[in-house]
Amino acid sequence: MLSWEIIEHGKPLQKALKETPKPQGSEVLMRITRSGVCHSDLHIWDGYFDLGGGKRFYVKERGCVPPFTPGHEPFGVVEALGPRARGVKVGQKRLIYPWIGCGKCAVCKAGQDNYCVSGSRFLGVNRPGAYSTHVLVPDPKYLLDTAGIDDSFAATLACSAVTAYSAANKLPKLNQADSVAVLGCGGLGLIAISVLKARGAATIIGCDIDDAKLAAAQKLGAKKTVNSRAPDALKQMQGVAAAIDFVGSPATAALGIAALRKGGRYVLCGLYGGELTHPLPPIAQRAIGIVGSYVGSLQELKEVVALAKKRKLRATPVETRSADEANAALEDLKAGKVVGRIVLDFESVAA
Ligand SMILES: [Zn+2]
Ligand SMILES: [Zn+2]
Repeated sequence: MLSWEIIEHGKPLQKALKETPKPQGSEVLMRITRSGVCHSDLHIWDGYFDLGGGKRFYVKERGCVPPFTPGHEPFGVVEALGPRARGVKVGQKRLIYPWIGCGKCAVCKAGQDNYCVSGSRFLGVNRPGAYSTHVLVPDPKYLLDTAGIDDSFAATLACSAVTAYSAANKLPKLNQADSVAVLGCGGLGLIAISVLKARGAATIIGCDIDDAKLAAAQKLGAKKTVNSRAPDALKQMQGVAAAIDFVGSPATAALGIAALRKGGRYVLCGLYGGELTHPLPPIAQRAIGIVGSYVGSLQELKEVVALAKKRKLRATPVETRSADEANAALEDLKAGKVVGRIVLDFESVAA
């Protein structure tokens, strides 16, 4: 198999020809055809997350040690089954749920693999990911049928859409007059607008520093857009019932929290980095909630796929590029040049 690997953090990925693994037990070998390029791939590529105050969290501490294959929006075709793998057949197209836990602990048994701390096997995070022609999946239960959904768009459901969907699950109950701000209209923010629309949010406010992204947000159904660099950005957003932050910088956190109405909720998804300092009394006095949200559960991904199958999820702009352009895709994403999502095509390079 061919894999695009991080050999050294921050340096271009390198193409490596390796032996294709053989599935054991309940494992399934998937031939990858599509793999989305996510903003967190940039952090994994860099090798750390910025914790603010000069502190860093290094990804090697959670098992991401070069040579490492990133990629956690995987879509492909079943190529081979382990002797105990049931429920899928060779040749079937499937979306892969990448947030795989140990399978044995209490949270995994409760269907919350994404909260597993006792041995997570997140594809492209601490297990070989989908910037590759092949990926081993521990069990067929992590494979979803997305028939009727475009393959490239389907790939993006595994991280960006399920992350947005899970964040939306953490919002307070919205009434007709309530508005929700989406901070950061990159790949995640745009699909979040689709998700919020599909779930009946009446007024969505898209916020970004890039007018091209704001135009895309409006196209997907944002009723209002705010350039967060505008001096009156806060005034334009004031009184929102909720703010979902897909950037996660000190500036967006400050804006999102300040814009909340009493009883509102700020949901943090973005991993840009930094730290939060906020006076404590107003959090109580304004009765606001500050909550984090990280990816989503297998059940949530199933619900996202069901929404997309019913055509209730408006597709975000997706640009499919050859896997050979993986480095250029990461560079473009880093430079903020991508509207929507880039999805890499591994079919054209199949080894
Ligand atoms: Zn992601
Ligand atoms: Zn577990």
